[in-house]
Amino acid sequence: MQQALIELHERHRGNLDGALADYIPQLAMVEPDQFGVAVATTDGQLFTAGHADRPFTIQSVSKPYAYCIALEMIGRKAILGRVGVEPSGDAFNAIIFDPKTNRAFNPMVNAGAITVAGILYEQVGEGAFPLILDRLSQAAGRPLAINEAVYRSEVETGHRNRAIGHLLRNCGAIDGPVDAILDTYFRQCSIEVTATDLAHMGATLAHIGENPSTRRQVFELNAVRDTLAVMFTCGMYDYSGGWAFNVGIPAKSGVGGGIVGVVNRQLGIGTFSPRLDAQGNSVRGLAAFADLSSDFGLHAFECT
Ligand code: GLU
Repeated sequence: MQQALIELHERHRGNLDGALADYIPQLAMVEPDQFGVAVATTDGQLFTAGHADRPFTIQSVSKPYAYCIALEMIGRKAILGRVGVEPSGDAFNAIIFDPKTNRAFNPMVNAGAITVAGILYEQVGEGAFPLILDRLSQAAGRPLAINEAVYRSEVETGHRNRAIGHLLRNCGAIDGPVDAILDTYFRQCSIEVTATDLAHMGATLAHIGENPSTRRQVFELNAVRDTLAVMFTCGMYDYSGGWAFNVGIPAKSGVGGGIVGVVNRQLGIGTFSPRLDAQGNSVRGLAAFADLSSDFGLHAFECT
């Protein structure tokens, strides 16, 4: 696997397609050529290539983990009444709710993730962000922290997310102080991780909630199952259908350039490369996942 990762990294290193996210000024300032890949196995091995230990902000890759925590806290039935599980086919920041339910389509788009932040805030108030940070840290197997500059940039420019938050409050999907809920969400997006962290975080889900390196149970079994199902159908923005078809690995990407992938019972995969395609997915991350899926037969419905 180590040799395969080095070759994979070499194969895609020269691909400079795509552009940095620039809707938050701080994201447009990262070094664009960074590219790292990491794979963690459920029996505790780690393989890396390239810039696997460069920090970047987790952004939307935090969303499935926050959802998993909320599932544990209020249960499946209650959460389904607050946020759906249907792919939206719209952009991550769309101000559109499911017309049948008047709720966010799913927890992987901003409206759904802000609803999830609202649920966590209702449960533990100001403890919501420390709770998210603690559980993500346990999944990564090391203490994580936020990037203050990105956090401030999110707060200063997050008017669209504020609009979504107030609409959610207006339609009753969240029921708490909108500013505090958004602050929880902005902080969760600003947590700094590496591709290696994402590989461990993926392996924790692959290992049904137990971090294979620390042997600590981080998430509950049933919540992991539901989270993986939503990652599979909704995790890759408006390329989620194409991704399920071509790559077939439950995954989540973020505009910071990270992607986490989960090969059930086997592997966690983390990639980082900040140049994004038109859907907001990391160009070299997509290429790396596609190769790993076909070279190692990782598609969920692999027949050979
Ligand atoms: N903080 C970002 C936002 O909500 C996250 C976007 C993403 O990674 O998709 O706008």
